[in-house]
Amino acid sequence: MSIKKQKTLQGIVSFEGIGIHSGLRVSMLVKPLAPNSGIILRNVRFPDGDIKVGTIVPEDSSYATILKGASWQLGTVEHVMAALSALELDNVCVEIDGFEMPIMDGSSQPFIEKFLAVGVEEQEVPAVYVTPRRPLVFEDKLRESFLEIMPALAQDDGLVDRVLHVDYEASFDHPELGFAAIKCSMVEGFFVDNISPARTFGFVDQLPALRKFGLAKGASLENTVVIGESGFMNKPRFKDEFMRHKLLDLIGDLALIGKRLCGTIVAKRTGHSFNRRVIESYVNSPSDWVELSSDD
Ligand SMILES: [Zn+2]
Repeated sequence: MSIKKQKTLQGIVSFEGIGIHSGLRVSMLVKPLAPNSGIILRNVRFPDGDIKVGTIVPEDSSYATILKGASWQLGTVEHVMAALSALELDNVCVEIDGFEMPIMDGSSQPFIEKFLAVGVEEQEVPAVYVTPRRPLVFEDKLRESFLEIMPALAQDDGLVDRVLHVDYEASFDHPELGFAAIKCSMVEGFFVDNISPARTFGFVDQLPALRKFGLAKGASLENTVVIGESGFMNKPRFKDEFMRHKLLDLIGDLALIGKRLCGTIVAKRTGHSFNRRVIESYVNSPSDWVELSSDD
């Protein structure tokens, strides 16, 4: 296996859209950065307030993933993070003029399409992979959420397998959703075709409560698979789109480690406020994690 290199974009990519919760318009640029820069989140109004992904534990929020810096915070980062992770984009600056990333169509596909259109560039520095030192278990008994991550293993050629393998289950006590599961390896082609098009979903009867709390102001049939009293109000892209989107959210949340994650994950019924615990472990208990060197 040849040594994998760090990656960035070949040019600047721009997005215009609304935040699904704020309903406000935002402009966002994703710009290439030099090797070893990592992923930087920048707000044009707070030029000294850059947030470096991998150094911050997300806020405890169940409806979207929020990173809070010293002077500003950025919400709904998960779908862009999933797209960056899928394309192994290690070094980019995400520059925005608001406080929530644009929702686009509710999936990661619009981000991936534009990143691929401008092109991904390999940089002359080895990529950094991280895996747990021992199996780590995260559990929320009340919500029946579970996640175990096991260390990446050496392969026949003696090198450690640098792929993230996932065995995932989602279930909702709802007749339209029910139970769905997938076992897969997070390689670019698989994610792009099978996971990235899966959209955010929501229940129409929960909308008034969300709006009362100032949430979901930008939600519409353009960016959300909506489940009403008599079934889906728009056409799903997959029959188990909800499960694929929960996995997309998990991958986006785990990308907040800021380095390429490898190993094997077994997870079920995860959500943003649960997924953050993995980042909490990475940021606050670094001795439980190990970076692979090029000859591992
Ligand atoms: Zn999502």
